[in-house]
Amino acid sequence: MARIRLMPDHLANKIAAGEVVERPASVVKELVENSIDAGATWVKVDLMEAGLQRIRITDDGAGMDEEDCEIAFYRHATSKILDENDLFHVRSLGFRGEALASIAAVSRLSIQTSTGDSAGTKMNLEGGHFVSRGKSDARKGTDITVEELFFNTPARLKYMKTIHTELGHVTDVLNRMALAHPEVQFICTHNEKQIFKTNGRGDLLQVIANIYGMNVAKKMIPIEVETADFKVDGYIAKPEVYRASRNYMSTIINGRFIRSIPLNKAVLQGYHTLLPIGKSPIVVLNINMDPILVDVNVHPSKMEVRFSKEKELYDLLEETVRQAFRKQTLIPDVSQPS
Ligand code: ADP
Ligand code: MG
Repeated sequence: MARIRLMPDHLANKIAAGEVVERPASVVKELVENSIDAGATWVKVDLMEAGLQRIRITDDGAGMDEEDCEIAFYRHATSKILDENDLFHVRSLGFRGEALASIAAVSRLSIQTSTGDSAGTKMNLEGGHFVSRGKSDARKGTDITVEELFFNTPARLKYMKTIHTELGHVTDVLNRMALAHPEVQFICTHNEKQIFKTNGRGDLLQVIANIYGMNVAKKMIPIEVETADFKVDGYIAKPEVYRASRNYMSTIINGRFIRSIPLNKAVLQGYHTLLPIGKSPIVVLNINMDPILVDVNVHPSKMEVRFSKEKELYDLLEETVRQAFRKQTLIPDVSQPS
């Protein structure tokens, strides 16, 4: 008799959740990404106890009809890619079709969603199982509440840090989302007090001021450059404003906040000797390129990516930063007679 069996879906989802849902901040990241992919102009995040007790995400995006709302919770169910070819042209933040199934597998989740055409749909799930369904109002958009995260995965629950630490992770996620999407308004409350808000008017410098303060925003230099392969814009801080960590260097590729040690290094090279040794600048770089040039399917969190023209991009960033300071006449341009 065969000893090897296919796992039931709910078990596979719980295992996948171990990768996708590390802590409340991961839930916020996945759900906010879904809202952005759904074309939301605003996203509201309400947390109780840093999200350990409750996370509620409301948006004014496209919403789902009843049939889609159910399928959305199946593993590998996505509206964002259809075939292998799409995988190389990903423009959306999601495409793995794992988030909703994973989050639902390790929480008590309720959803209300409507495309705005007719009455909306309401569903409740517990540990990934549908427990009830019904109609909701027809407000266009989606409203998801995740309660008692990890109630059925005690080992993961035990690993949760203090409210303070968990809230810090959520704030990091929201800051990144807001920097990557100034055109979307973000509002966040914690235990019913508002802790973060952007205006959604598309002004990156305003978002920088929201996150890092007015004094930093005043010291930012705009940059903009376009080549055949890349379009880069954003802000880089004057060298007098520096930080001890590289966490203030933000790179956004095609709307996705990513981590790239080489790209950070290119920017630092551009600053050359203007920064004190061991210090890092505050920068927000928005890089747009043909999705074919970037592989986002490296890690479930999609924070790591691979580029096929990394060297070109590296050189472009270094040179753009250097030029920006030359224009500011901080670096004497040796090629020009003085
Ligand atoms: P993915 O984002 O990788 O497609 P998810 O599990 O996060 O996978 O979501 C599954 C599907 O559910 C999405 O492809 C999308 O069609 C739908 N969906 C999820 N969240 C929303 C939302 N806030 N508004 C509209 N549709 C949504
Ligand atoms: Mg998603």
